Amino acid sequence: MKCKKCSNTAVIHLRQHNTAYCGEHFVDYFEKRVEKTIDEYSMFKKDSKILVAVSGGKDSMTLWYVLTKLGYKTDGLIIDVGTGNILFDLLSQFADKIGSRLISVDAKKYLGGLTVPEIARIIRRPTCSICGSVRRYLMNKTAFENNYDVVATGHNLDDEVSFLLGNLLSWNLGYLRRQAPFMPRTHHKLVGKSKPLVWLTEKEIYTYALLNKIPFDSEKCPFSKNASSLKYKRVLNDLEVDQPGTKLRFYKQFQRLELFKTDLVELNECSVCGYPTTSEKCSFCRMRERVEDALGKQKN
Ligand code: AMP
Ligand code: ZN
Ligand code: ZN
Repeated sequence: MKCKKCSNTAVIHLRQHNTAYCGEHFVDYFEKRVEKTIDEYSMFKKDSKILVAVSGGKDSMTLWYVLTKLGYKTDGLIIDVGTGNILFDLLSQFADKIGSRLISVDAKKYLGGLTVPEIARIIRRPTCSICGSVRRYLMNKTAFENNYDVVATGHNLDDEVSFLLGNLLSWNLGYLRRQAPFMPRTHHKLVGKSKPLVWLTEKEIYTYALLNKIPFDSEKCPFSKNASSLKYKRVLNDLEVDQPGTKLRFYKQFQRLELFKTDLVELNECSVCGYPTTSEKCSFCRMRERVEDALGKQKN
């Protein structure tokens, strides 16, 4: 197969766009796609202070690299939730290489010395849901306390359509409403969240990472092996093989819904930590209280 731009041998065939590219033209297409997404949703500007949440996986490492290459002002943030090997060396060497800075946060410091898997066991909740909630809270807190304009995460099209399918199956409109590619700042302590890779698939990100020699860790989190999101990804991949463009169509049509245009809910400040919440206490502080209750009961 040949590149649609220059007729050299193609390195990637994008069936969803009915096109193929050589390495050079694919990199060009990829970077233009990222810029277009940032502009389309007014995510941030060239002089914005951006905190890129990095796990060490291909998506967030690629995001960190591409934003820096495109001239955005980025720092990386790694949150150690205690689920496995943390990739400080990989991340700090990469930060040096791209001329960025790495901030690391140890979640245990905010969880009474416990790790996320320990908390999940104590209050009998799925590890992934505790992990997500702890990460969201600490990303926002770190960004706010260090004056960042926006947080960027490496969510890709496959992540978004799998989340969309899962939440449509249970008609969880509350979660879907918060799934926009960009959630602007709605409270001075709630920093905006952006997902600049949202229109790119895992295959595209993987190819871009290889072409640019971006180091990443391909190990999956040991707690996500049976996650339903992986099942939804498999189903959507099957549909995509039969009908290329299914994922893009599914996500595009979702974006057109009026769902995101409804009035925003009013936010209070949590009575314990002061961060925004729709209730009296935020979910992070409520979780901490449940842990303390459970540990107290064990002692009695
Ligand atoms: P996941 O929920 O694991 O699919 O991750 C989604 C996004 O969250 C990644 O692309 C990263 O931007 C970010 N992320 C995941 N894990 C971490 C972590 N431990 N520290 C900082 N950011 C993370
Ligand atoms: Zn070409
Ligand atoms: Zn709180």
